[in-house]
Amino acid sequence: MNGRPAVDGAGGRVLLATRNPGKVRELRALLAGEGIEVLSAGDVPGAPDVPETGATFRENALLKAHALAAPGLLAVADDSGLEVDALGGAPGVRSARYAGEPKDDARNSRRLLDELEGVPDEGRAARFRCALALVADGQEAVFEGTCEGRIAREPRGVGGFGYDPVFLPDGGTRTMAELSDAEKNAISHRGRAFAAARETIVTWARRASEA
Ligand code: IMP
Repeated sequence: MNGRPAVDGAGGRVLLATRNPGKVRELRALLAGEGIEVLSAGDVPGAPDVPETGATFRENALLKAHALAAPGLLAVADDSGLEVDALGGAPGVRSARYAGEPKDDARNSRRLLDELEGVPDEGRAARFRCALALVADGQEAVFEGTCEGRIAREPRGVGGFGYDPVFLPDGGTRTMAELSDAEKNAISHRGRAFAAARETIVTWARRASEA
C-alpha cells in the first residue's frame, strides 16, 4: 500500500500473458490495494499466442512478455514446469506436452510415474520452477521461484493441476494436489516468483502509466 486511493488503474496497468483465469486471480490477489488493473491476454483482442520455442523457462517467459509489450503498460509473462533429477531435468520446458499432443495432465503424470518405475524415494528428487518476466519501457527483468520436492509413487489429491497429484513438496506428506489453494500459493514456484517480483511490478506499472 502506498497511501494513495486504490482506484483500479490509477496505479498503472499490467497485462499478463496468459488465458488461464487462475493465474490472473493469483496476480490480482497479490496486487490487491495497489490500484493496479490486471488484464489478461484474453481481454485484449488480437493478443498473440506466442509459441514457447525457448530452451529455458527464462527464455520463454521473456519471449511472451516482449510479444505483449505496449506503451503505457507493464507486460508480465510466466513460464513454468517440472524438473526431475533422475531424468536429467526432464520434462522441463516440455512439461505441458510430455506425453505428446494433445496436452493431457493425467497422461503426463502417468508417463512420469512409468519413467520412474522402480526408482527408490531417494532417487525421485524434483522441483517446480517458474520464471516471471517483466517488460516495460524497453526494460526487462526476470524473477525466479522454485519449489523442491520429489515424485510420489502414485497420484493423490484432486486440487491444483498438471503434475500436482504426483508431486510431494519437501517438509510434508501431502501431494501438491492435497493442499488448499492458499497452502499451495505460499510454497509454490509461481507464488514465490510473484512474491519476489511484487515490488518491481508495482513500481514499473506506475512508471509505465505516467510515461
Ligand atoms: P505453464 O507455465 O503454465 O505453461 O506450465 C507448463 C506445464 O508445467 C503445465 O502444463 C504443467 O504440466 C506444469 N506445471 C506448471 N506449474 C505447475 C503447477 O503449479 N503444478 C503442476 N504442474 C505445473
